[in-house]
Amino acid sequence: MEITFGVHKGKTSQIVFLKEPNYVQWVLNKNSIYNDLLIIKNNFRYLIEILDTKPFKGTCHNCRKPATRLAFWQGEVSSFYYSCDTCDSSSLGADEGQIRYVRTYSDAIKYVGNFCVGKKNIYQKMIKSMASAKGLNGRLTKENAHTFFLPSKEKE
Ligand SMILES: [Zn+2]
Repeated sequence: MEITFGVHKGKTSQIVFLKEPNYVQWVLNKNSIYNDLLIIKNNFRYLIEILDTKPFKGTCHNCRKPATRLAFWQGEVSSFYYSCDTCDSSSLGADEGQIRYVRTYSDAIKYVGNFCVGKKNIYQKMIKSMASAKGLNGRLTKENAHTFFLPSKEKE
């Protein structure tokens, strides 16, 4: 949907979701009675649900089963390994605690908040990793963002 107010007026919620995660967090944390803001808040929640429901594209780096989560070396956001639920950090040659697993949007935000604060554009990089792991290809255009967030049955 198109955002009709504020700093991102005229842009779609899909592109803002992927490019401006700080704004998304601001909206989600805002207790507002203003209708415009509530509508976009609900739309962001809907986009999170779609993102979380999409399967990861890759297979586990270790056993090749379908991936159910992403493994990050703690502090990393731009590179990751696909992982299943059973393979653990030892398969990456890491000690317990050096690898952090991210499954959902909420995990991703918490991970960045806990381990990556103070780095430039860090939330953007993290959401980019999540989206690419879930099949967002090519440039981040309005059209690509729109297609990415279509519920899967509407693509057929
Ligand atoms: Zn595995």
